[in-house]
Amino acid sequence: MKKHNFSAGPCILPEEVLKKASEAIINFNDDNLSLIEISHRSKPFVAVMEKARSLALELLGLENKGYKALFLQGGASMEFLMVAYNLLNKKAAYLNTGTWSDKAIKEAKAFGEMIEVASSKDKGYNYIPKGYTIPTDADYFHCTSNNTVAGTQIKDFPETNVPLICDMSSDIFSRQLDFEKFDLIYAGAQKNMGPAGATLVIIKEDILGKVERHIPSMLNYQIHIDKDSMFNTPSVFAVYVSMLTLQWLKDLGGIKFIEEVNNKKAALLYAEIDRNPLFKGIVAKEDRSIMNATFVLTDESLKETFDTMWAEAGINGLNGHRSVGGYRASMYNALPLYSIQALVDVMQELERTQK
Ligand SMILES: *Cc1c(COP(=O)(O)O)cnc(C)c1O
Repeated sequence: MKKHNFSAGPCILPEEVLKKASEAIINFNDDNLSLIEISHRSKPFVAVMEKARSLALELLGLENKGYKALFLQGGASMEFLMVAYNLLNKKAAYLNTGTWSDKAIKEAKAFGEMIEVASSKDKGYNYIPKGYTIPTDADYFHCTSNNTVAGTQIKDFPETNVPLICDMSSDIFSRQLDFEKFDLIYAGAQKNMGPAGATLVIIKEDILGKVERHIPSMLNYQIHIDKDSMFNTPSVFAVYVSMLTLQWLKDLGGIKFIEEVNNKKAALLYAEIDRNPLFKGIVAKEDRSIMNATFVLTDESLKETFDTMWAEAGINGLNGHRSVGGYRASMYNALPLYSIQALVDVMQELERTQK
């Protein structure tokens, strides 16, 4: 039986996607060739790239609105750098809500003045700062929608007159948002879309062309747009699997549908964390992530017992990030509700053994 995969990233993908992807490795498009041994400029692959790009825009409701979708390489970490390279002229504003925002800030600092509008670093990133001010003369404002490590998530995005840029690596396609508010969205594929190796970048084209520096071709968004995301060989397999996942999501009913499922999953787990005296959550309740739930045991001496119990129940990937400890249950789109139930059952079983 397949394990209940709570891994934080790379993470669970839909089973039917994995099946189709493995078939394409042997025989893609019934051509008796593998997807990964044909030219990326061949018709069948160009069609895959175009489909992946258009599905991404369609699912976000951003078609025909001046946005372009790109599948680039280098992970979300490369976007920390590319965003600043392409958009930071004089100063940029960043919200620091976690390890990943912190890294984005470090990269961007090299390109101009950095305004950290607010930070929750002092409290181990266990909440989302609110009520901060974004300078109206900043080149852009950058935030991280979901803090994958500590388990917090921005519920309300700020109103601002400057371009809004968001790292949505760990919650893209998981909930409905007014995506038109954003001028640039990026996400590493390996959390809600596909295997590692591709990064989705959604960009409103009119924010480009405003910096004076020379931008190397591989880091230049405009070049990637002009070349239809084929400036060089794209990560063909990661793009293909991402396309399959986006198609899977569309067939299910899109973000509206999956958001309801995700809310149910998160509600089930958080209710148990709050009810069961052996567990407690570690972040502010109103900022809890629907993708990554973090929690600890109230009695550390139960760790070995609990760890054995969940492993025996076929659960994988529940250990917290090394910087936080405790437990982290990542509940990405492809994780079924019954996997959450399996975890809740183990938590209740642990409680029974203590009575
Ligand atoms: C995982 C993650 C990253 C890093 O992604 P890479 O593709 O490994 O560079 C960045 N931001 C967030 C929010 C993440 O969850």
